[in-house]
Amino acid sequence: MRRVYFDHSATTPVDPAVAEEMYRFMTETYGNPTSLHYFGRQARKAVEEAREKVAAAIGADPKEIIFTSGGTESDNMAIHGVATINRNRGNHIITSAVEHHAVLNTVKALGKQGFTVTILPVDKYGMVSVEDVAAAITDKTVLITIMHANNEMGTIQPIAEIGKLAREKGVLFHTDAVQSFGKIPVNVDALNVDLLSISGHKFYAPKGIGVLYVRKGARWRQTLFHGGAQERLRRAGTENTPGIVALGKAAELAAANREEEAARLSVLRDRLIEGIDSRIGDVLLTGHPEKRLPNLVSVCFKYIEGESMLLSLDMQGIAASSGSACTSGSLEPSHVLLAMGIPHEMAHGSIRLSLGKDNTEADVDYFLEVMPPIVERLRAMSPLDQENEFALSGQCNGCRISHSCQA
Ligand SMILES: *Cc1c(COP(=O)(O)O)cnc(C)c1O
Repeated sequence: MRRVYFDHSATTPVDPAVAEEMYRFMTETYGNPTSLHYFGRQARKAVEEAREKVAAAIGADPKEIIFTSGGTESDNMAIHGVATINRNRGNHIITSAVEHHAVLNTVKALGKQGFTVTILPVDKYGMVSVEDVAAAITDKTVLITIMHANNEMGTIQPIAEIGKLAREKGVLFHTDAVQSFGKIPVNVDALNVDLLSISGHKFYAPKGIGVLYVRKGARWRQTLFHGGAQERLRRAGTENTPGIVALGKAAELAAANREEEAARLSVLRDRLIEGIDSRIGDVLLTGHPEKRLPNLVSVCFKYIEGESMLLSLDMQGIAASSGSACTSGSLEPSHVLLAMGIPHEMAHGSIRLSLGKDNTEADVDYFLEVMPPIVERLRAMSPLDQENEFALSGQCNGCRISHSCQA
């Protein structure tokens, strides 16, 4: 069967060149970077070279790079580290309604520990307003955390402007750049950020390795792990040398290929959008029409379930993702789509197509050939086209499958 992978926002394959490097650091150069002998020294050298590559890719100093286990850990470490050390200065945190759960659930946890959390709304395109951020800042605000680009609908936030404002007010600013890195420019100075998270498996490095950037002098301290003195006392635990080397290599490749690849992907993205729009009725493209990731399409199909579409697409070899949340059992539509004011019955029918380096125009055309009959068939058997009935029962059919998480 033809297989088309359109789920790069969930995870990407490891680039063969990256995997090759990794293999070498598992089988040959396997020393502990802390060890003083030859094996250790070789591993240390590789870790520090990877750190330089990552730093170069985001315009940072290598000393400002901390390797973590991934995007979730980086987000947790950033937020906890700022909140805890600045607790005597204030207890107010500002975030947005469309954040990834790694941020949203972290600030909510702090909300239960005496912090006050402002969750800013977004407009219909999923965009946070800089004025709203300005209005939310109080003399108790210690942290603003707003993502660079959204993982569900691709909208790019005005990070540089928010960062400028945060700096003027003396408030630390963190951004989750997990989806943006490798697709649009990510430079810590241009974005005016103090802390920034990225994750290897979203740009062709393996799962389980990430980076937290912390600006020199920022009032932040590692507060989650207790252990060894690795990462200059900022992240205890033996360095994941193969992962770090892989991430360094992938970051280097991402930076080198970004512009060209983004241009190629945005052509495919627009071909998808135009094709869906012209061939299928009752659809809603979500996210900002221009300020969006080059590789992501998010669309709601009225009267049908995102998950039924996913299963039908899967049977045709196409891997996509739905906007439904992973709160197993309950079928809550995505918090992101709801925050944008998209009605429940529309949000239920959302799917996300996220493109990557191996996708071609033929993949897009295959999707455009396969999708219309799927939509037609599902709509024909859908109980949801009687909207009133849907509203009355408050639940949908066709979603009796186990739910899978959207990253
Ligand atoms: C995938 C993702 C994360 C989590 O990263 P992991 O490395 O999977 O923990 C965080 N934020 C965003 C926006 C993501 O897309």
